[in-house]
Amino acid sequence: MPECQKILIVGAGIGGLCTAIALARIGVEVEVIDIKPDNAVAGVGWGLRTNGLRALREIGLLEDTLAIGFPTPPLAYHDRQGRHVVDIPYGRQFDGMPNNVQLPRTGFLEMASARAREYGCAIRMATTAVDIEQDDAGVSVEFSDGSAGRYDLVIGFDGINSSIRGYLFGDRYTPVRSGGVAWRAPVAAPATLKGALFCHGFGGKVGFVPLAGGMMYVIVTHFEAGRPRHNRAAFPQIMHRVAREMMGDSPFMAEAIDSLLDATNVAYTPLDTVMVPYPWHCGRVMIMGDAAHAMTPYLGSGAAMAIEDGVVFAELLQSGDALYDVQTRFMAQRYPRVKTIWDTSLQMMHEEFDSATPEALDRRLAHLVNEEPAALDYVHRILESPY
Ligand SMILES: Cc1cc2nc3c(=O)[nH]c(=O)nc-3n(C[C@H](O)[C@H](O)[C@H](O)COP(=O)(O)OP(=O)(O)OC[C@H]3O[C@@H](n4cnc5c(N)ncnc54)[C@H](O)[C@@H]3O)c2cc1C
Repeated sequence: MPECQKILIVGAGIGGLCTAIALARIGVEVEVIDIKPDNAVAGVGWGLRTNGLRALREIGLLEDTLAIGFPTPPLAYHDRQGRHVVDIPYGRQFDGMPNNVQLPRTGFLEMASARAREYGCAIRMATTAVDIEQDDAGVSVEFSDGSAGRYDLVIGFDGINSSIRGYLFGDRYTPVRSGGVAWRAPVAAPATLKGALFCHGFGGKVGFVPLAGGMMYVIVTHFEAGRPRHNRAAFPQIMHRVAREMMGDSPFMAEAIDSLLDATNVAYTPLDTVMVPYPWHCGRVMIMGDAAHAMTPYLGSGAAMAIEDGVVFAELLQSGDALYDVQTRFMAQRYPRVKTIWDTSLQMMHEEFDSATPEALDRRLAHLVNEEPAALDYVHRILESPY
């Protein structure tokens, strides 16, 4: 029987909800709180590779996930003129699962929270923890709605700006500006778009990623000095301008780029990072997911790492070993794997941005053809290895 019988998860994002399900499946009483009023999130789509799908299979979510997502062909890189450069695969397929599935963000959260509730998890939205005090026997938490609870363990899955990380470590680990930013917007997809298509421009890319229902999301990534405060009302115009600058006067995908001017729900995300070194716990309070290891999205693996965290922790907790032993084994298992993916994702971002001049862009495109496939094959083998 797990040592922790009652666990509070702070944060009902992808990691928090999947962890809630993983823990409920081994008999733990789970409560989840989230400061947001509902499951709506900025950003539209996300991809999950085989390792993430394998983790979802462990907690019985694979079928529901495949029902709302769709497998994607390799990522096709083009240059600014629309000339095909190289196809980058997402890794090998195994156990009959696709090697990458494209998913709706809000749709996944709705599905996962419905399943968590079926497993008996109590989820309260628009609620946060206002006071946490732990002793040897448990953790006492006061909530923003005036209620209180006592738990064997509190897990902070509250994202890159985690308040639970602040409770554990003060301001020792705060988000670090990587220099990269991402713009994302859902718009209608051209009928010809079958898989993700990235156009490499000077110092960044414009990507077109198909979604269900004839839609796609456009993503623009580039380096941005400082931390400018963009006017939210002007996001569509700014994203359009950056995409156009990236593509020069090329007519390739011009219609799709112009449709950004009418986009609603444009998300602008500075690609900040956090990497908390060992340990991610102190007594009966822990952090996981982006709260512990927010990475740049260049391997599309942040959410997959968060899901893996929860699945691995539940497996270890099921052993019935003392919490401290479970936590230290968890760290030994998770830290090297997560750190490798975190490092590689950051390196890949810098490689993309090192393309600001015509000569640098030529070098970068040659790198994509000659070195990137083998470099990614190495990462895929790590992702495919047991977590
Ligand atoms: C542009 C971009 C593209 C990405 N693409 C991919 C991809 O394709 N594949 C992939 O695997 N990953 C991708 N990621 C990364 C992925 O989105 C994150 O790693 C993942 O969402 C982390 O999950 P999480 O549950 O740890 O945190 P989050 O998803 O950030 O969830 C945290 C939750 O905690 C809640 N919260 C915050 N503060 C509090 C508080 N004080 N009290 C209560 N609740 C609180 C929030 O409301 C939120 O619901 C991408 C990221 C970006 C920026």
